[in-house]
Parts: sequence; structure tokens; C-alpha cells
Amino acid sequence: MVRVIIFLLLVYFVARAVWRLVYGIAEGLSGRRDPQSPSAVALARDPVCGTYVVPSRALTSGSGNDLHFFCSERCRQAWSKR
Ligand SMILES: [Zn+2]
Repeated sequence: MVRVIIFLLLVYFVARAVWRLVYGIAEGLSGRRDPQSPSAVALARDPVCGTYVVPSRALTSGSGNDLHFFCSERCRQAWSKR
């Protein structure tokens, strides 16, 4: 009887491990992407140093057609001093 219980426990743990593995692979194949990933965002070019920046995280100057994006406060100040 004890052997049967041990066998059932073993089956239970193996099944659980297999399920976790399958679940992990399925999750990987579903292709969930980080929505914050900058690779999917159109980049803006810093007119001072030429660095490409993510507009949502970059410093800005001006508005409308005169809107510029900067990688740092230093570049923004250099642009405003021109
Ligand atoms: Zn810059």
C-alpha cells in the first residue's frame, strides 16, 4: 500500500513538472512583448549630438513643427542658445 502512495506522489510531481514546462513553452511561443520596448517606437533624432532618442522619454523644446527632442538637458540648452 505504501508503494502505491509513493508511486502516486511521484506521478503527481512528474505531471506537475511537465505541466510547468509545457506552460512555460506556450507562454514563450505566444510572443508576449514588453509594451515599453523602445524597439517598437519611432525614434527622434537629437539635433545637437545626433543621438536617437525615444520621444516619450526625451527632453523636448518648442512645439508643433518646431518641436525637437534631446537626449539630455545639456543638449537642450545648447539648442536654445544657438
Ligand atoms: Zn544629445
